[in-house]
Amino acid sequence: MSGIVAIVGRPNVGKSTLFNRMIQRREAIVDSVSGVTRDRHYGKSDWNGKEFSLIDTGGYVVGSEDVFEKEIDRQVELAIAEADAIFFMVDAETGITGMDEDVARLLRKVEKPVFLVVNKVDNAKRREDAVEFYNLGLGEIYPISSINGSGTGELLDALALVLPDAALPEDDLPRFAVVGRPNAGKSSFINALLGEERYIVTDVAGTTRDSIDTTYNRFGFDFKLVDTAGIRRKAKVKEDLEFYSVMRSVRTIEHSDVCLLLLDATRGFDGQVQNIFWLAQRNNKGIVILVNKWDLVEKDTDSVKEFTRHIKEVISPFTDVPIVFISVKNKQRVLKALETAVEVYHNRARRVPTSKLNDIMLPIIERRPPPSLKGKYVKIKFCTQLPTNYPQFAFFCNLPQYVKDPYKRFLENQIREHFDFTGVPISIFMRKK
Ligand code: GDP
Ligand code: GDP
Repeated sequence: MSGIVAIVGRPNVGKSTLFNRMIQRREAIVDSVSGVTRDRHYGKSDWNGKEFSLIDTGGYVVGSEDVFEKEIDRQVELAIAEADAIFFMVDAETGITGMDEDVARLLRKVEKPVFLVVNKVDNAKRREDAVEFYNLGLGEIYPISSINGSGTGELLDALALVLPDAALPEDDLPRFAVVGRPNAGKSSFINALLGEERYIVTDVAGTTRDSIDTTYNRFGFDFKLVDTAGIRRKAKVKEDLEFYSVMRSVRTIEHSDVCLLLLDATRGFDGQVQNIFWLAQRNNKGIVILVNKWDLVEKDTDSVKEFTRHIKEVISPFTDVPIVFISVKNKQRVLKALETAVEVYHNRARRVPTSKLNDIMLPIIERRPPPSLKGKYVKIKFCTQLPTNYPQFAFFCNLPQYVKDPYKRFLENQIREHFDFTGVPISIFMRKK
């Protein structure tokens, strides 16, 4: 399954407790732009080996009831706009509140799947109390305890039935996502890239409700732009603009092969841009960094070098990423950006034959084997690229658990040196043989 699940509900019902229980590796993205709003989190979760994204829409406001209410309206609005399914969390300890009823009223009108999650059902007594929530008129209830995990299995089973399967691409066209902070120039870039409407080849509804896959032919390339329609939608509330853009990025990145990460050269490769970069990297997408508004930068001979060095420092150790300096305004290097994205797409699809890989890698490994650990020697016997849709390599050896990250990075770098995987994250696995 794939898709985005948003958790909504009034403060203190246990949303973040559930979120933290469900996300892997504690690699949540935290959005804390506004001083009033509580951090909002995005993370990956999986159930039976299938991944989906989870968003804790947060929205805790210190203030009066009516401030709460406004905040929850926004939360729900965000969830309705961006999620594929909604967990509406209520609290068995306190029972139904007026605010729960308000949220339920909003959610009853929504066509997306809504799961009424009754939290803090830690014991049998609470389980009995939980039936009260049928009165919210949202159908089935899912009693859980975020603290001890009970009931979450049933909830996720039900979720798995409604989330789409990870979309299989129906053709071999590159799917590009143009992502970045608000104001980086994404709409301008897309407009410059596409020019007039006549470049649109087809218009097919995407796998998710909101995303529209449109096939373009431009400068001799066929490609799809993921979710271009949504990019023009603006948030109603200013503080939400940044979070909208993160949500938007999550969605578009997940449906893409290559992310064109646009940034405003005058603002630099800041924290929010880095978030989006890591999002793409963790999702194993191809990446091209486009430094836009280069026309606004006062340049000398070293400007490009300096900027590049700075970005590489931040994205280390995954530095094998193309960086193109563009000006959408002056139509500079927009074509180059597209060409580079197409190259990265091909790199991501690259499959190295096993014999060729071993011919190159085994002598390298022999010259520099993994360091011995506790007197034990690791012998790597062969390697192969796994048949996945992004590059993953398995190295078979006697003691896989003895091979540590620095050596894996060495292997990755050697692969990158001999085969072109520029712009593409690579996974290295050690397997027992
Ligand atoms: P949020 O504001 O909705 O994100 O709520 P939090 O996740 O911060 O939780 C609010 C409080 O409820 C915390 O003190 C949690 O420890 C507590 N809590 C969360 N889940 C459970 C649960 O399943 N059972 C009980 N008894 N307490 C819980
Ligand atoms: P989006 O929010 O990322 O879609 O950004 P927009 O495409 O709406 O652009 C934001 C602002 O930056 C607009 O005023 C654009 O005209 C301006 N802009 C976009 N690209 C460039 C550029 O290359 N140079 C300059 N100077 N301005 C740009």
